[in-house]
Amino acid sequence: MKIETKCVQSGYEPQNGEPRVVPIVQSTTYKYSSAQEMGDLFDLKEDGFFYTRLANPTADAVEKKIADLEGGVGAMLTSAGQAASLIAIMNICHAGDHIISSTAIYGGTFNLLSVTLKKFGIDVTFVDPDISPEELQNKIKENTKIIFGETLANPALRVLDIEKFAKAAHDNNIPLIIDNTFPTPYLCNPIEFGADIVLHSTSKYMDGHAVSLGGVIVDSGNFDWEASKKFEELTTPDESYHGIVYTKAFGRSAYIVKARVQLMRDLGCTPAPMNCFLLDLGLDTLHLRMERHSENALKVAQYLENNDKIAWVSYPGLESSPDHALAQKYLPKGCSGVIAFGPKGGREASAKLMDSLKLAKIVCHVADVRTSVLHPASSTHRQLTDEQLVECGVKPELIRMSVGIENADDIIADIQQALDAIM
Ligand SMILES: *Cc1c(COP(=O)(O)O)cnc(C)c1O
Repeated sequence: MKIETKCVQSGYEPQNGEPRVVPIVQSTTYKYSSAQEMGDLFDLKEDGFFYTRLANPTADAVEKKIADLEGGVGAMLTSAGQAASLIAIMNICHAGDHIISSTAIYGGTFNLLSVTLKKFGIDVTFVDPDISPEELQNKIKENTKIIFGETLANPALRVLDIEKFAKAAHDNNIPLIIDNTFPTPYLCNPIEFGADIVLHSTSKYMDGHAVSLGGVIVDSGNFDWEASKKFEELTTPDESYHGIVYTKAFGRSAYIVKARVQLMRDLGCTPAPMNCFLLDLGLDTLHLRMERHSENALKVAQYLENNDKIAWVSYPGLESSPDHALAQKYLPKGCSGVIAFGPKGGREASAKLMDSLKLAKIVCHVADVRTSVLHPASSTHRQLTDEQLVECGVKPELIRMSVGIENADDIIADIQQALDAIM
């Protein structure tokens, strides 16, 4: 089936007399009639629900839908995007290991990699997304276990050359993990370009309405852990699970099963059933929303580019963007809804412009139906000096606008009245 149909139909198939809509199973526990049956579930001999920290029928339906949308063999929901990044990495990395990551990634992931995982003994090397294949190969060490990047980076809006990074990973028998939050599976399927593991903050476009935090990890099932010989945790007995060998017991689903039965068991960053239900409602209309977000963002970006009060606009959908060619390859259906721009007059003009917007509200969020703006220099990146801001690719005057699904003319009129008021 086509992706539009999958958004609406995948993941849940009601039997006779069952609810048509995915039910919210608000229960931590599940009843069985014999100790033997329960024991078989614990031993992973049988499939079934026994405790919501590990699996829940509402979560299960949404996981199946997202796995289908991304083209993976399985998925696991988490309580937030940050937990998805943490588990995706910890599942195959431990103290003494090394990761290579693109610099163009979400600030929260940057902190996770450069501060918190460092405390766990995992080292990281950041590389420019424009790095040459030869230089990238030179950065890979004996203990490198993962290459990490973001399809469309938040907030830098750089488009990753996924195939270049996938080739470097596979030439060295390690997997490529891609954060696909901004495009969503509607605009890009990183697995088709060689990604092995895909993750999302579902708090953004997948939920789409700014109502529930969440994350998801999708396993392509394509990485051969046994042939690689670098991932003993998957290919040798797990003593915390009476000696189970994940690749032997679960084949192509080894990675995602281990993430659940070992790390979700131990870390417990489980989503609430209610939030899974809300996420599923969002996914039902993902295809319609992403189309409109992309259409509106392009119109707003084009308007800003032709406005002489605006110094610069960054949006890979614009022909003037240095990433336009990459966008045409990886994001042919549209470049999602977030744009960045700077008005003439620097930081001060940005603050005034934001204060004068009426329809577009100032919020610390992106990627929902309502148009919003954020000025990183005075909020998320407030502690940095102007020089430090430039170093991490955030110009002091940068305004990040998350273009919603209202009428584009109204969004543009709002910006126009704010520009008229301040200049
Ligand atoms: C927001 C975001 C995250 C973190 O997700 P939370 O749900 O806020 O924990 C990770 N990656 C990207 C690209 C994001 O935009």
